[in-house]
Amino acid sequence: MTAETPRPGSRRLLIAGGGLPSLALALAVKQAHGPALAVTVIDPSGADSARHRGRAYALAAGGRRMLDRLGVWDRVSGTAEPITAMVISDSRLADPVRPTFLTFGQDGEDDRDEGEPFAHMIEAEPLAETLLRACREAGVALVTSGVVRATPEGAAIHAELTTGERLRGDLLVAADGARSRLREAARIGWVGGSYPQVGIVATIGHARPHGGRAFEHFLPAGPFAILPLRDGGVLGHRSSIVWTERADAVDALLAGEPDEVLAEIERRFTLDLGPLSLEHGPSRHPLAVGLARRFYAERLALLGDAAHVVHPIAGQGLNLGLADAAALAEAVTGALRLGLDPGGPDILRDYERARRFDSFAMAAVTDGLNRLFSNDALPLRLARDLGLGIVDRLPGLKRFFIGEAAAARGSRPRLMRGEAL
Ligand SMILES: Cc1cc2nc3c(=O)[nH]c(=O)nc-3n(C[C@H](O)[C@H](O)[C@H](O)COP(=O)(O)OP(=O)(O)OC[C@H]3O[C@@H](n4cnc5c(N)ncnc54)[C@H](O)[C@@H]3O)c2cc1C
Repeated sequence: MTAETPRPGSRRLLIAGGGLPSLALALAVKQAHGPALAVTVIDPSGADSARHRGRAYALAAGGRRMLDRLGVWDRVSGTAEPITAMVISDSRLADPVRPTFLTFGQDGEDDRDEGEPFAHMIEAEPLAETLLRACREAGVALVTSGVVRATPEGAAIHAELTTGERLRGDLLVAADGARSRLREAARIGWVGGSYPQVGIVATIGHARPHGGRAFEHFLPAGPFAILPLRDGGVLGHRSSIVWTERADAVDALLAGEPDEVLAEIERRFTLDLGPLSLEHGPSRHPLAVGLARRFYAERLALLGDAAHVVHPIAGQGLNLGLADAAALAEAVTGALRLGLDPGGPDILRDYERARRFDSFAMAAVTDGLNRLFSNDALPLRLARDLGLGIVDRLPGLKRFFIGEAAAARGSRPRLMRGEAL
């Protein structure tokens, strides 16, 4: 599809990058404003949801409320699995048992609605497919191209595409991922770095049910998470694993035949779920932490991983991106309803104010947890094992794991509370 030409007098939002948070933003603002706002999502991989195959995310309650409000949740919930409890253990790889230090999920110490699971595991491909369909139905233009240059000029910003096309917008959202070229071109600094770790993602089949419980084993090389998926696959039940390993060990671990790779997974899995099978993957993902020094420049707003990257130890990157989308949709909508310029500096400042602390806090806490747990030094092991007893009684840290850390529910963006824009 090519980009529609905005009607005279209407505004246009350009979004570079068609990841899940971008699609949620596009849908939210298009639903709120209809023909008064042209919305164009530009991504070189286009409207191809297959690139998300094999990825699954822990979607926190706020993100689910947002998808519900956008009319997407009902269409995709049949593929999601509620997480009823989370169990955390800390041990060495060779330890025969993995003692539990921290459990949560049923103690109702946060502000979820009664009976609301703290998260759902959702597969990225059906979620992307549903969001893309809803975007098309709402009238969002999806353009298969990349943005090579963005030039603010007075009351507009011009995006130059790889196809040579030049699009004019009131605001350009840079949602082009962790290595955002648009962020760099706008000279927005980045604080952070890479971890000497790689995230390995795979879908594992198992013969016995997981009961909706998620497990995270803290092993010296990094956390090994087992996250429940909807039943299916050759063995009847499935889980997604996110296995953090030392970068220099990954090649050797994954070089073998599928049976050998599965044997490595089984050594870490240690749950009694019967025989295991490798249903999808493994795929490798470099791990990093980072935060943009500013979340906006002239007529440009950063969103998702382009603004912040966090370690997947608490499964919160996408949730942060969805919160960005909810906050930016609210800022843009507020401006348009008052007849203000949606790309103006006050609006972008409001957006940054709404999102910066939350993003910083998540980056800092996940980085701290990863450093604390991903090693085998005895004094640290003792300290953290003693610490976890305390942590178990600390609602603050648990809230980070369940994506509800951002402050009281009342101060979250409206869509994350399940309210209309
Ligand atoms: C191992 C692992 C496990 C994770 N697990 C979880 C989890 O359980 N829960 C959770 O909340 N988060 C999780 N995350 C984080 C999550 O994957 C990311 O935060 C999220 O996918 C970021 O989405 P995004 O759209 O910002 O970026 P991306 O998904 O990287 O999308 C960027 C898009 O921009 C496009 N693009 C690039 N350049 C251009 C350009 N010049 N012009 C136009 N488009 C461009 C790309 O094609 C791409 O589609 C995990 C991450 C990892 C690595």
